[in-house]
Amino acid sequence: MLRLDLAEIIRTPGMYHTYKVNEAPYATDDVEYVSPITGDITVTNTGTMLLVRGPIKTTIAMECNRCLETVRVPIETDIEEQFDLQEMDDSQHHDKVVKVVEEENIGAFEDKVLLLDVLIRQATILAEPLMPLCREDCPGIPVKSTDKDADTTEPLKKSPFSDLSKLLEE
Ligand SMILES: [Zn+2]
Repeated sequence: MLRLDLAEIIRTPGMYHTYKVNEAPYATDDVEYVSPITGDITVTNTGTMLLVRGPIKTTIAMECNRCLETVRVPIETDIEEQFDLQEMDDSQHHDKVVKVVEEENIGAFEDKVLLLDVLIRQATILAEPLMPLCREDCPGIPVKSTDKDADTTEPLKKSPFSDLSKLLEE
């Protein structure tokens, strides 16, 4: 599960714990994981902050920037997040209550439960290539053979098929 109940760490300064991540592939609105998501995420309470750190490894599906075929893109990145811990007096229980403060309000916490999938998605989007290609020399979407302009303006490259295409034209 990608929901981590951090209640104990949040109330214990100096406490830390490493969580093993091994999640089956799934898809969100904008990220499609096509291999398991693995990693080791360490959560540390520094007294004033909650640090969430660790490597994440997975594979996502993207569209080739040239031909729009699906490309499997390996992702290896690190989660590096921190959240302020705010101590508040609970006058009713004469007790101190610690609250997690999300500055950017990314929706990573439901009370004391960390939604790790939110952080994984964010780190994955930052790490994904801007222009994924199915292969280095992807020629892009093939030009339609019925396009006559392309035939006349573009000189035929020397290829084993150039002679054959001439024969076909005659
Ligand atoms: Zn391509």
